[in-house]
Amino acid sequence: MVSSSSSPSSSLTLSWSSMDQKKKQQAKRKKTREVVNQTRSTTIALCGGVGDIEDFCKEDTLEIRSSLLCWYDQNQRVFPWRKQTTEIESYNDDKEDESCDRAYAVWVSEVMLQQTRVATVIDYYNRWMEKWPTINHLAQASQEEVNQMWAGLGYYRRARFLLEGAKMIVEKGGEFPQTVSTLRKIKGIGDYTAGAIASIAFYEAVPVVDGNVIRVIARLKAISANPKESTTIKIFWKLAGQLVDACRPGDFNQALMELGATICSPTSPGCSICPVAGQCRALQLCQSHKLESVTDYPAKVVKLKQRLDFWAVCVVEILEHNNVDIQKESNEKNKFLFVKRPDEGLLAGLWEFPSVSLKGEANLATRRQMMDKYLKNFFKLNTDECTIVSREDIGECVHIFTHIRLKMFVELIVLHQKGGGRVFHAKKEDISAWKYVDGDSIDSMGLTSGVRKVYNMIQQCKREQSLENQPRRTRKRSRRS
Ligand code: SF4
Repeated sequence: MVSSSSSPSSSLTLSWSSMDQKKKQQAKRKKTREVVNQTRSTTIALCGGVGDIEDFCKEDTLEIRSSLLCWYDQNQRVFPWRKQTTEIESYNDDKEDESCDRAYAVWVSEVMLQQTRVATVIDYYNRWMEKWPTINHLAQASQEEVNQMWAGLGYYRRARFLLEGAKMIVEKGGEFPQTVSTLRKIKGIGDYTAGAIASIAFYEAVPVVDGNVIRVIARLKAISANPKESTTIKIFWKLAGQLVDACRPGDFNQALMELGATICSPTSPGCSICPVAGQCRALQLCQSHKLESVTDYPAKVVKLKQRLDFWAVCVVEILEHNNVDIQKESNEKNKFLFVKRPDEGLLAGLWEFPSVSLKGEANLATRRQMMDKYLKNFFKLNTDECTIVSREDIGECVHIFTHIRLKMFVELIVLHQKGGGRVFHAKKEDISAWKYVDGDSIDSMGLTSGVRKVYNMIQQCKREQSLENQPRRTRKRSRRS
C-alpha cells in the first residue's frame, strides 16, 4: 500500500517496481504453463500414447488397497444404503436372500445417485424403501406411482428402467442376478451399476468407474488424455480393475469413490491428508515443480453448448362454481388440465400443462395463436360449452436440463364450464392421454420440477391478485355492516 506521505518520485518508483513485479509474475506463469504442457506431453510420451498407459505396479497396487481400505474403515460416511447386510431390515431369512436385499438397496441408491447430490438422495431413498422395501414390492408398483415418488429427482428414464428392471427380474423367478454379465442383461443396468451391485452385494471382484474414480486414477497415474473419450474410459476401467481388492471388492470400490468425493475433490484436493498420497504421480510432479497443481488432472473437457428450447405453456383452469369470483380465487374445486407426454423422448410419459414448442422467442400474439390452434386441434376445445373468464400472461421461467436450457412462457386461461357441458372433447386416442386434476390434489401430485415451477408461478400470481383485491372486499363488507 502506498502511504499518503509518498513523494511523486517514490510513487513512480513504486509503480515501476510493481510493473517489474507484474512482468516477472507473467513470465513465471508462462514458464509454469510451459512446464505443465511439457509434463503433459512427457506423460503421454512416457506412456507412449493413451493405449499404452502403464499398469499399476504390484507394490503400488497392494499399498493403495491397504491404505485406502484402512482409511475407509475409519472415515466412511454413514448412508442408509451403506448399512451392513445384517443391519438392513431383511425381509428374508437366509443369507442368500439377505444379499438380494442388499443388491436391491445398492441398485436403488446407485440409480438415484447418478446425476443427483447425496444430500438430496437420502430422503428419496428412505421414502422409496419404506414404500417398496424389496424388489417384489417394487415389481407390483405402477409407473404412475414410481414417477410420483421420483418427482423432483430428474432424469425420469432412470425411474422407468428401475421399475422395468424389477418386473423383469421378478417375472424370471425373482432371483437377483449376481454377476456383472448377468446384471447387464437387465434393462437399465449399465456397466457402472452392474459393477456396484456385483461387487458390493455379491463380492465379485469387479471395478466401478464413475467421475470420482476417473479423477482419482487420472491423478494417481497423471493421465492427461481426454477422460470423456471412449478409449480413455476403457483405460480407466482397466486400471480400476487392477486396483480392486479381491477380498473386499465392494468396500474397495466405495472407498475409491469416497476418496474422490471427499478428499480428492475437483478443485481443492486435500493431498496432505490423502491415504494414497505416496502413490500419487500428480502429487510427485507438483513436489518436483514440474506441475503447478494436481488439479491439472484429469484434462478439462470443454462442455458442449446447451441447446436453447422455447415453449409456450398454458395452464388451463376450469371453474364449475356459479360464483366465478369466489371460485377463481379459492382454487378448491377448480380443475386443471394435464396432458401426458409421449412415451419416448424428453420427460417421457410424465404429466405436464399443455405446452407447444416454439421456434424461438415469440411474442404474446404468436404464442396465443399457436396455443389456440393446439387446444382446438388436439383437445377439441368447445367454446360453446364455456366462457373465457380470464386469460393472463403470467411470465416466463427457465428450466435447465443437462443439455437443454428450456425457456417457458406461461399463461393462465380460466374457463367457466356451462352446466352439464364438456369443455374438451378430445378422445383418448387423439392424444396420448389427458386428465383433469382438482386444485387441492396438485400439491400431492408427483410433478417434474419444471411443471412445479410453472404451477408455483400461477399460485404466486393468484396470491398477489388476492392481496390486491382484499382491501376492496373488506371495504365492501364494512359498508354493508
Ligand atoms: S494425493 Fe492429492 S491428487 Fe493424489 S490422489 Fe490424493 S488427494 Fe488426489
